[in-house]
Amino acid sequence: MTENEPAEGTVASIALGSNLGDRAANLRGAVEALERHEAVDVLRVSDLLETEPMGPPGQGPYLNAAMIVRTVLEPRDLLDVCLAIERQFGRIRGRPTEEEVRWGPRTLDLDLLLFGRRIIDEPGLTVPHPHLHERRFVLEPLVMIGPELVHPLRNATVAEMWSRLMERSGAME
Ligand code: ATP
Ligand code: CA
Ligand code: CA
Repeated sequence: MTENEPAEGTVASIALGSNLGDRAANLRGAVEALERHEAVDVLRVSDLLETEPMGPPGQGPYLNAAMIVRTVLEPRDLLDVCLAIERQFGRIRGRPTEEEVRWGPRTLDLDLLLFGRRIIDEPGLTVPHPHLHERRFVLEPLVMIGPELVHPLRNATVAEMWSRLMERSGAME
């Protein structure tokens, strides 16, 4: 948390993931880049959790994390900042991101999860993130730092979504 945390702005949460290169350095680099942004204050960062990849087989495990920020940016501008950081930090020499495939290995993935209680559904930006409530690798780090955050479409807190997901996965085993 910075010394001059602005009282104004909106609390937003972001998911971080990496399964290529120095995964921890990629995630820490992304957090530092957001900390350096003058319109973004980083409030909380979760531990880095190792998770199994979804998508095409043959990928290494992911490191995932979540962070909570306060920002005076609009959601679209916060997304653009995140996508720019993905490009800046998420690229391995000799392996351009253009070669990356959907849900394939990537050096850095930043997803905007919640933006206050705003509901956005426009080309290129859906908030809350449509898979937030059903992904263990997203909810597990988020519940560590923001159990009280509210999903405005499900009228549930992160803690409630997490326990529902755990109940469902327990029932499947
Ligand atoms: P998933 O969203 O299922 O996790 P992904 O993270 O692999 O998939 P990307 O290829 O990283 O998907 O992103 C594709 C596009 O998704 C981005 O360029 C962005 O415009 C769009 N997008 C829509 N909503 C969001 C959001 N809430 N956070 C991040 N990107 C989003
Ligand atoms: Ca993603
Ligand atoms: Ca993404």
